[in-house]
Amino acid sequence: MYSSSEGSSRESKRKKKIKKLKKRLNLKKRDIKIVLDSTINAYVNNDNKIYVNTGALDNLDLDELAFLLLHEESHIESGHVEKNERVRKEVASEVASELSGVWSSESGFLKKIFSSLIVGAAGVATCSVVSQAFELEADINAQKKLQEAGFGEEGGQKLFKRFNKGFSLSHPSVELRKNIIKK
Ligand SMILES: [Zn+2]
Repeated sequence: MYSSSEGSSRESKRKKKIKKLKKRLNLKKRDIKIVLDSTINAYVNNDNKIYVNTGALDNLDLDELAFLLLHEESHIESGHVEKNERVRKEVASEVASELSGVWSSESGFLKKIFSSLIVGAAGVATCSVVSQAFELEADINAQKKLQEAGFGEEGGQKLFKRFNKGFSLSHPSVELRKNIIKK
């Protein structure tokens, strides 16, 4: 348990960090929301806000946090969320129309199952490829802006070292991300 004064001092520490970084990273107009979650993470939805977990705010060095915020800012600036959704829908409808003439000998029921499974799989595969590409683009943009803000070039590398090497559909491997922001 934390006393309320300890709790509020942690809170004001977090807010101060964000204020400082907003200024230094030229993100003054960006709405950055704090999420009570101890995982080191940040994310964007389609509301043009950056959501950053308390786990990231409390545990990362300032240059790592700067890289993370710039990465998220790049997702917003490049419209990655909308683009990903648009591509997924386009591929799904393309695949569905391609499939409509296939398996004409199958019963309507099987045909329906095949089609919906393949359309679903195509959607997942597309999302995965597109979002991995967007992750790398956001990393490259973040790396560039990090250096422009005078943070040096280690923030991203340090941050990636904290991530485990598990496989993810939406994110490229840690090794690939480390390499892509190397000079
Ligand atoms: Zn990302």
